[in-house]
Amino acid sequence: MQYISTRGGMQPQSFSETLLEGLAPDGGLAIPETLSQVGAETLESWRGLTYPELAAEVLALFATDIPREDLDRMTAAAYADFPDDVVPLRSIGDGITLVGLSEGPTLAFKDMAMQFLGQVLEYVLEKQDRVLNIIGATSGDTGSAAEYALRGKDRISVIMLSPQGRMSPFQRAQMYTLQDANVRNIAVSGVFDDCQNLVKKLSGDLDFKRAQNLGAVNSINLGRIAAQSVYYFWAWLRVTDAVEPQFRRGFEVSFTVPSGNFGNILSGFFAKGMGVPIRRLVLAANENNVLDEFFRTGVYRPRSAADTHATSSPSMDISKASNLERFIFDLVGRDASGVADAWKSLDTDGFFDFTAEQPRFEDEFGIVSGTSTHADRLATIRSVYEDAQQIIDPHTADGVHVARSFVEQDVPMLVLETAKPEKFAETITEAIGVDLEFSPEVRLMMDAPQHVTEMADDEAALRAYIVEHALR
Ligand SMILES: *Cc1c(COP(=O)(O)O)cnc(C)c1O
Repeated sequence: MQYISTRGGMQPQSFSETLLEGLAPDGGLAIPETLSQVGAETLESWRGLTYPELAAEVLALFATDIPREDLDRMTAAAYADFPDDVVPLRSIGDGITLVGLSEGPTLAFKDMAMQFLGQVLEYVLEKQDRVLNIIGATSGDTGSAAEYALRGKDRISVIMLSPQGRMSPFQRAQMYTLQDANVRNIAVSGVFDDCQNLVKKLSGDLDFKRAQNLGAVNSINLGRIAAQSVYYFWAWLRVTDAVEPQFRRGFEVSFTVPSGNFGNILSGFFAKGMGVPIRRLVLAANENNVLDEFFRTGVYRPRSAADTHATSSPSMDISKASNLERFIFDLVGRDASGVADAWKSLDTDGFFDFTAEQPRFEDEFGIVSGTSTHADRLATIRSVYEDAQQIIDPHTADGVHVARSFVEQDVPMLVLETAKPEKFAETITEAIGVDLEFSPEVRLMMDAPQHVTEMADDEAALRAYIVEHALR
């Protein structure tokens, strides 16, 4: 598989090459030139595989430049610390099944991709005899997933900016208690956007970026999208285990995806395009519902930071959706000039308008959407607790709430569980009056000493810090 840019200005590249780049040189995003097809027989032949084995099969289709035995080794290592089934499925009744994506070290779905990315980045850097300093900004989940995936690596260091005093005690402990010499946390006096702006300024300075070997593992990274497509294959295989063999071929399921930057659901869109029998992809948004607005009306209007609310499903609090451009590329018939036109009108008018194309979103691509509010989350956590005796996290609750209005007879509805409830214990208490007990490991972590460098919102100070600490 070769990769091209959504804006048309990049020579086809290999998987390894796109992995180390952020945006394509023309400002677009890397996408597969053509998606590999997985026929019904091949899909069936994967039924007996373990999750790491299946991951190697699927990722081999994306990473055609990496020898198969190396992929086998990397996927085995990436998911070694997960439970045996890696991604467990469990029914909560009413035709809905949860797909457990938060069994990794940071209790949220970002581990699924980041653990593989840690393996493959180290591998590619080794081959090219290079080092990389990952610089990022986090409001919680992404930063911790990156740090746990990259800790202890020889050729990679992590410099992660977080807003001082704005993360939960759990999130702080998770990141700041790491002891690894290659992981550095910086608490910036400011909000998340200040952290992100600092990162953008430094990454935009190409000379500095090159001299300091800076890189990123943000949500547009194609390696993450590829690794996330695996669990759509896995979930289909596990659901159809219960279907009579003669009815399995082409048996359709739907997925609901709690969404922010459109990364997770895009992976499902790729899996569908590769041949997983997916009927609908249901996008669930919280109050920051720019994407729900787009899929219902065809008009995409990103919001300002001031219009972006802090909600009780914070990992979905986005003002714009970085990966949407990859869907738009398909919508306009894989035509780079169509994408460029849309982004030009974003720049000049603050929105783009595909009203005339909106019916195709569902008819042709199978994507529908809905919004869930704080009150919906609480009511959903409560009802799942009462009816199915299971506690779900607020992001998953957004998914279940939206999924309920799209359940169809005889089509299993799979909701992606994107985090563990322990991570958002306050909202659980608010919903059902239960104080979640931390596990002994988590309690140890909460009490461990924390290491963090405090810094003003000051670009010069950050530059000096990087020059002092970056790997070369
Ligand atoms: C990141 C995240 C999301 C949103 O995923 P996208 O790929 O950005 O759409 C949803 N839930 C949780 C818990 C997350 O960490």
